[in-house]
Amino acid sequence: MAPKRFFIYTVGCQMNILDSELAAAALAQAGYQPLKSAKGADIILFNTCSVREHAEEKIYSALGRLKHWKDSRPEGIVGVMGCMAQKDRETVLKRAPHVDLVIGPGQIDRLPHLIAEIHKNQTPRIAVSADRFHSGSETGSVRESFRRYDPIRLPEFRPSRYQAMVRIMFGCDKFCSYCIVPKTRGPEQSRPADDIVREIKTLADSGCREVMLLGQTVNSYCWKDAAGTVTMADLLERINGIAGIERIRFVSSYPTAMTDTLLEAVRDLEHVMPYLHVPAQHGADSVLKRMRRRYTAAQYRELVERIYQTIPGAAITSDFIVGFCGETEEEFEQTVELVRWARFKNSFIFKYSQRPGTYAAKHYDDDVKESEKRRRNNALLDVQNAISAEQSARFVGQTVEVLVEGPSKTAKKGVLPLVGASSCQTQLTGRTPCDRIVVFDGPTSLTGTLARVRITESAPFTLFGSLQSDS
Ligand code: SF4
Repeated sequence: MAPKRFFIYTVGCQMNILDSELAAAALAQAGYQPLKSAKGADIILFNTCSVREHAEEKIYSALGRLKHWKDSRPEGIVGVMGCMAQKDRETVLKRAPHVDLVIGPGQIDRLPHLIAEIHKNQTPRIAVSADRFHSGSETGSVRESFRRYDPIRLPEFRPSRYQAMVRIMFGCDKFCSYCIVPKTRGPEQSRPADDIVREIKTLADSGCREVMLLGQTVNSYCWKDAAGTVTMADLLERINGIAGIERIRFVSSYPTAMTDTLLEAVRDLEHVMPYLHVPAQHGADSVLKRMRRRYTAAQYRELVERIYQTIPGAAITSDFIVGFCGETEEEFEQTVELVRWARFKNSFIFKYSQRPGTYAAKHYDDDVKESEKRRRNNALLDVQNAISAEQSARFVGQTVEVLVEGPSKTAKKGVLPLVGASSCQTQLTGRTPCDRIVVFDGPTSLTGTLARVRITESAPFTLFGSLQSDS
């Protein structure tokens, strides 16, 4: 039988991108062939996100468009993975009855097995993890699932073979009032430190130079066993010693879990980058309280000061929600003030989108008009963009070390002619230790190495420069 060809369409966060890589690796190991588009696929999978209503509706529309495809080839398989699958299982099958497979994020290691069963029995399958408060459907232990599953790494399924995401935790226990993640991804669980170190050694041996450690509240990582306790700072120290790994980053940090010991580890460990993503979400205590975040704006400011004092040159990024239930103009202005004061490298700004099943959906009115949410979103973006531009401009004239990621998007599209004397020269991109994108001309052979680039121009989110001869 010819190998079955599959395509995975991914939306959402870095966890989803990683899950898609691991799902693709698991399927490829089972003999399935990956495709870069749905054309010619026998199996089409959607890795979904539940954080915003818009993302869910896009998936339902795409599923609707696949009805004809499924009618014309009943042996084809349509699957829904990820948070929407975990949260809405039966609704997915009700709204899109031609879907064959609904599989939650904690069950993705079973994908090849479930697809084989659907082929054999021609009946739909639902596989989701036990809910936190009541179980149903076909369930399994999340920790066991991702112990088996995460180490399956194949470089060709990553955007770059030199960079990899590594999950160190699963789930969340914080229950912010607007967020569905604690329900869809389950309780907070750390992976065994030895498993993580082993996985990163394998990645390093296959050429990976940079790892991004992932967790919903990554800085609260803690593994306990008979040998003792491994904190986030301890884990960073162990990864820092792995030969071949040049750069280590971690996202997302929860403000109250940022200990001095961890900040000192970021400062002192050679390969840990001075970049911290610490979502503040809001600048007003009243809104933080409604959001059920567990800190005040003053405590968040104290953290920002502590980061800048401990780690010279640190870059901090944040997330903000505008237009949260009951947000007044005065409360919004406190967020603007916080952004002006904190000098974030950049901020990811979202308009509040009510999610069924959350505390906020049950207890608060989503009462800020859409037009007002849009206005606040744009106003905050303008403030942040001006700060990002100022911060980028400071790099002009400096020489920075970049990890070269390869040809820029423009060069890949063939829009730019090859430059320089050698035909191997093209426009490259890389990142500074504090995660700023740098664009410069150089040989493609530099991909995956550290290079020195002198910055000559800047834009809010990009630096431009020239390669230094000692690279
Ligand atoms: S910390 Fe809050 S926002 Fe982040 S995943 Fe957990 S519940 Fe959601």
